[in-house]
Amino acid sequence: MLLVNLRHLEAHEIHLEGELAAAKLDFGLRDETLRAERPLRYDLTVEKMDDALLVTGSLRMILDCQCVRCLKSFEQRLVLEDWKCHVPLAGEEKVSVNNDCVDLTPFVREDMLLEFPSHPLCKPDCVGLKKGQAPKTDGKGVVTSAAWTELDKLKL
Ligand SMILES: [Zn+2]
Repeated sequence: MLLVNLRHLEAHEIHLEGELAAAKLDFGLRDETLRAERPLRYDLTVEKMDDALLVTGSLRMILDCQCVRCLKSFEQRLVLEDWKCHVPLAGEEKVSVNNDCVDLTPFVREDMLLEFPSHPLCKPDCVGLKKGQAPKTDGKGVVTSAAWTELDKLKL
């Protein structure tokens, strides 16, 4: 877990740097075209505000993807260079504090997920497989990706 000890923040900001195992992030992906199995690297500064924590820094991770058009495997590098996160310590949205510690993992998970490609492509203009080899599509030329279809349903 990515824990911040609030006591350590009383006097000055703290710097967190290291790796977070993908298993700890538990993205809940059930999609063959996208796997997040490598550790996430973080380099963060945490400051205590009046009733919140301000977290700034970078998050990096490499995804193992499969192109939805040509089915080629490729790596996709995700980098959030100027990540900012506001972690409320008061009010309705406040985070839970255990033994003076706040877990930043859910915030990292949420913002990384937003960066995941919904339809991974090995290159933006990938032409896909030759005729006769085309994978199943949803009629619009986009290969249906199970996990994202499920997500889309949730939004409705
Ligand atoms: Zn491709």
